[in-house]
Amino acid sequence: MSGRLAPSPTGALHLGGASTFLIAWLEARTRGVPLRMRVEDLDTPRVLGGAEARILDDLAWLGLDWDGELLRQSTRRAAYEAALARLDAVGKVYPCDCSRAEIARIASAPHEGEEVRYPGTCRDRPRSRPWRRPPALRFAVDEGCVESFVDGLLGPQTSRVDLDAGDFVLRRGDGVFAYQLAVVVDDLAMGIDHVVRGADLLSSTARQLALIRALGGHPPEYLHAPLVVGADGARLAKRARGVCVRDHRDDGLRGDELVGKLAGALGLSDGDPITPRELLPRYDRARLRRGPVRA
Ligand code: GLU
Repeated sequence: MSGRLAPSPTGALHLGGASTFLIAWLEARTRGVPLRMRVEDLDTPRVLGGAEARILDDLAWLGLDWDGELLRQSTRRAAYEAALARLDAVGKVYPCDCSRAEIARIASAPHEGEEVRYPGTCRDRPRSRPWRRPPALRFAVDEGCVESFVDGLLGPQTSRVDLDAGDFVLRRGDGVFAYQLAVVVDDLAMGIDHVVRGADLLSSTARQLALIRALGGHPPEYLHAPLVVGADGARLAKRARGVCVRDHRDDGLRGDELVGKLAGALGLSDGDPITPRELLPRYDRARLRRGPVRA
């Protein structure tokens, strides 16, 4: 039984990531369970050279440690292939060679911030046919599929996966395994029973629960950590100065000063400098803010 830190080495560690990892660390250390490190480097076209080393170094600077060997998703392709084969064997996978533009045209207009829902166009097409482009593989979501869970911070959540997400991608046309599949396969293989991640991934959880069920696994508990927004309440612009942990390091801030600021914004402390280890005995999940917090 364990928790995990799962950074993507596609950019620098930003304050949102740091704040999520602080909560994941406090949760695991409070429960006395191991905290594993998984580097989510699957989306190779987006992985940045040197980003992993910088993220790990930033975490150490913040005073956040983890247990055991680091696992990289790029070494796990055989496990994802095996999971795909299992899902395929029970009729849950089909190839799709629709283009983005086609999907956007046929899908109902998404509301702001919503992803386009795939309407299942390729479900009934013959499995072998001349491909118009290298096909993606999609998960066939059952009609009426409802997934519910109680989030550790946000409370009861429920989603109609066939309507909210539709048949989602398991492997892209370029051969890259989708985040949804990789995360589920790895969380099950690593014995992760407590997932702490950013609230921007809340809408992915129902899809992951449907996959876990199809693979015969036991769902973990979830806690979706508050997003960190700018002082004006707007989403942090990726390139703005002060958004990344590195900016604060370069400005001469100490790790305990930044942890103090984050803990203060999260409602966990008065904002004075504090190390994660000093914060631990005072950690109380009930005090965590639910909404977005201002950096
Ligand atoms: N690697 C993902 C991210 O950096 C987190 C995935 C997860 O925790 O499920 O946003």
